[in-house]
Amino acid sequence: MDYQQIIEEVYREVQEENLRGKVATYIPELASVNPDQFGIALVDLDGNVFGVGDYQLPFSIQSISKVHTLTMVFHVFKSKLWARVNVEPSGNPFNSIAQLEYEKGIPRNPFINAGALVITDALCSKFERPIEQISDFINELAGQTCVRINQEVKQSEQNHAARNTALGYFLKAYQNFENDVEEVLDVYFSHCAMEMSCVDLAKSFSFLANDGYSIFANREIVSESHARRINALMLTCGFYDEAGEFAFRVGLPGKSGVGGGVAAVMPHKFSIAVWSPELNEKGNSVKAIKALELLTDKLSFSLF
Ligand code: GLN
Repeated sequence: MDYQQIIEEVYREVQEENLRGKVATYIPELASVNPDQFGIALVDLDGNVFGVGDYQLPFSIQSISKVHTLTMVFHVFKSKLWARVNVEPSGNPFNSIAQLEYEKGIPRNPFINAGALVITDALCSKFERPIEQISDFINELAGQTCVRINQEVKQSEQNHAARNTALGYFLKAYQNFENDVEEVLDVYFSHCAMEMSCVDLAKSFSFLANDGYSIFANREIVSESHARRINALMLTCGFYDEAGEFAFRVGLPGKSGVGGGVAAVMPHKFSIAVWSPELNEKGNSVKAIKALELLTDKLSFSLF
């Protein structure tokens, strides 16, 4: 399979379509990125890297980091974790608060903000230096030091934190929050403000394509059964209220972020990260989704 040729074709075809969206502005610092950036990096299970466009430029991974934090917390709490967060798609926007009341403070899944805050709260209960340990973990998965926290992005999100703060206190009202809300938010905004390139991000997802074993960290990160479950969650919940459409058009487990990144895996074959900042109305990158759709069409395989 000539992955390099295929991603170059995909890149060209997406560029020709001249798709447009809107960069995220609710975190003002993200609004200042160059909207035309676009990169694709694919990493196979022998560690070969294929890249095109801006695939080496660091960008704000935002909610993609929720996969890394979930992996850390799932590994510690095992199935006990599911008493605090469900595994159902939400069909609602990522920052929705409505369902949380009907579901009595148990978020629908670990990728909507409410669920990710529970995950970060659980992480804060078990890890003494959470921010550093999340960075170290992602660096280990990528096989090199690559993560940098963009303090301007973090501060910018902190300055516009009303909604996430409300979610934190709402969870606390239902006794599903152990730590100080502001402290957990600080860790949450830090991991959302992490920056890395498509190539490092794809490497950091490689263990999910490889039954839990990372060839970059040279160790088993999670069991094969945990890897399968994280992939199932990405497939059903990774794109919030667009998860169905992503499964329909692309058919891979993946996770998006409002920085315009998408990371996805084809189990037993490769991991891939695509980045372009302009988003659709669901908060997912227009070009990244199109690129992955064309890719699975050209490869004529997906999970299905
Ligand atoms: N940091 C963002 C938030 O909490 C992440 C959202 C996203 O990437 N979907 O709103």
